[in-house]
Amino acid sequence: MSKCPECGKTLKLEKREISPGVYSNVEVCPGCEEEWLDENEYEELRALFKRKVFRVGGSLAVRLPKEIADAIGINDGDNLRISAKDHKIIIETAP
Ligand SMILES: [Zn+2]
Repeated sequence: MSKCPECGKTLKLEKREISPGVYSNVEVCPGCEEEWLDENEYEELRALFKRKVFRVGGSLAVRLPKEIADAIGINDGDNLRISAKDHKIIIETAP
């Protein structure tokens, strides 16, 4: 285990949401609560969730990564509400 570069306490491994819907094991400092993640590991994780848009009839579709669906609790047949804000697509569960 490595030590916190900020306060020197021993870091512990925890599963955290490092970006919306993206979970990874990060080293967390029990002292200052700082999270430490290797930058390359972070970029690799982001690349994992890159998806290509494809055409289905007259619509465009994209597959949700299983990890994201599991993290949010989305299942086959669920309703989702899709909107756009600040050039980002927001997908919310719609009960
Ligand atoms: Zn610390």
